[in-house]
Amino acid sequence: MREASPRHSLIRALLLGTWLLAVTLLAGLVRQALAGFALAAALALIWMSWSTHRLRCLPTPGAAPSAPPTPSGHDPRRVRRLAAQFRALRNAVAALPDAVVLLDEQFRALWFNPASDTLLGLRRPRHLRCDLREQLRGTLIGDWLAAGASEPLHDIPAPHDAQRRLSLSLIPVGATQRLLLARDISTLARLEQMRRDFVANVSHELRTPLTVIHGYLELLDPEDVPQLAGVLGDMRAQSKRMAQIVEDLLTLSRLETQSGASEEPVAMAPLLATLRREAEALSQGRHRITLEVETPANLFGSLKDLHSACSNLVSNAVRYTPSGGSIRIRWQQLEDGSGAFSVIDTGYGIPAHHISRLTERFYRVSSSRSRDSGGTGLGLSIVKHALGMHQARIEIRSEPGQGSTFTALFPAARMLLPGASGDATPRG
Ligand code: ADP
Repeated sequence: MREASPRHSLIRALLLGTWLLAVTLLAGLVRQALAGFALAAALALIWMSWSTHRLRCLPTPGAAPSAPPTPSGHDPRRVRRLAAQFRALRNAVAALPDAVVLLDEQFRALWFNPASDTLLGLRRPRHLRCDLREQLRGTLIGDWLAAGASEPLHDIPAPHDAQRRLSLSLIPVGATQRLLLARDISTLARLEQMRRDFVANVSHELRTPLTVIHGYLELLDPEDVPQLAGVLGDMRAQSKRMAQIVEDLLTLSRLETQSGASEEPVAMAPLLATLRREAEALSQGRHRITLEVETPANLFGSLKDLHSACSNLVSNAVRYTPSGGSIRIRWQQLEDGSGAFSVIDTGYGIPAHHISRLTERFYRVSSSRSRDSGGTGLGLSIVKHALGMHQARIEIRSEPGQGSTFTALFPAARMLLPGASGDATPRG
């Protein structure tokens, strides 16, 4: 039987405490403290059950027992102490409001806490040792598990209560086991919905008065009141800017509430030609604008949202490239079948530390430059949302003083083979 001195037990307890604290703090840094604690506690639980098992099964030759062994060869005090620690940890995990389910490699539930009943509808003993992919088949969670659950699942209805919203993640534990964590985010989802409704309602309410003000300002001729010509010009420019902000906020609200892109074949040739015309109109001859169409492939998605995303990238290139610079609009199909729409400019460029934040609402590298060029600070947010609805993403490369390349990358499944745009069936 292996020796366990009080010093070792103290070290074990300290190690365990430090582990729980470290993972919780680490997870706290990414605002997932509760999930972090759940994960840490569950991993500790697994470690303790393994070490209990090891202590029972692996006697160390030559080690002197601290208490007389029982007829079965176990140190009763040590086994009792470990059992108590094991129970304490299991109770801690059981008390968590998040569902914690330990799964084996066949997705069979080995253990789950009571919250798994409320959130996932798992009952003991009915669902113990059951393949959860089968048990939850036909639900979003079942499909997600069956597909391998490589990415977390955000904001979905609970299997037995559609009013409850859940976020799920699957974490590998050791070589074969996994930990399924489900968290009730109903309150967060409600708050998020309230925020969305508020922004949409305010934008809507502002639209009419702004249109009226703008209309009256247009009626006033600066030549009739030359002493107010400058003021009138400023008022017109500002009311136009406010109207554009309201329109962009409404576009973002629409994209946020829309669950997916409308599925239609989008012919790229006319879209690209329109983008080029728009760029030339905005540039007024100040830039050299070229269009490089390297593939006849079309896209499957929403024309309105694709146009919105691409034209934002093109207008940014024009606005952030000084006169005399060049702008290339490129459409190509990459080797893996995916599509790449790029806008390459020779403009001001962007320092590296700003790049990861550019798609945040109202984030600007230079506020004055953005305002002077008529920016609202919402363009790249719109691009990100519109692309997200097409399972596409934005890639940004930039060098200050050298220029920028913004690329929208579309999955191969959204690419339409030539000739298929009329009765389109997406590839892949
Ligand atoms: P804005 O309306 O201010 O242009 P965006 O969301 O479209 O807002 O862009 C966010 C910021 O990213 C801009 O304010 C600008 O600083 C920077 N940016 C976007 N596109 C470019 C570009 N092609 N070249 C340089 N900077 C850019």
